[in-house]
Amino acid sequence: MTETSNERMCEVCGVRPMIGVACTSIPYSCAYCAECARQGADPEWIFEYIWQDCNGEIGLIRAHNFVTWKDGRYITFEQWAEWRRDKGRSK
Ligand SMILES: [Zn+2]
Repeated sequence: MTETSNERMCEVCGVRPMIGVACTSIPYSCAYCAECARQGADPEWIFEYIWQDCNGEIGLIRAHNFVTWKDGRYITFEQWAEWRRDKGRSK
């Protein structure tokens, strides 16, 4: 087997090698690095999925403390939703 020579990257941040696979919030099996696993972070596309699913009504989600990786740092769903609203306005 040559698996070790072909290192998979973390699916959340994409900048660190994965250490294992864990379930995300929706649930989906995702490759995590050590830091994203520690943060309990979700890939950003899951936030988009949730956003579409609830039409931007994030009241219920706010309580869950979801975290994702964006632009080099971890942000909460609330912070991400602010960015998403701005993006929606600028279109
Ligand atoms: Zn990561």
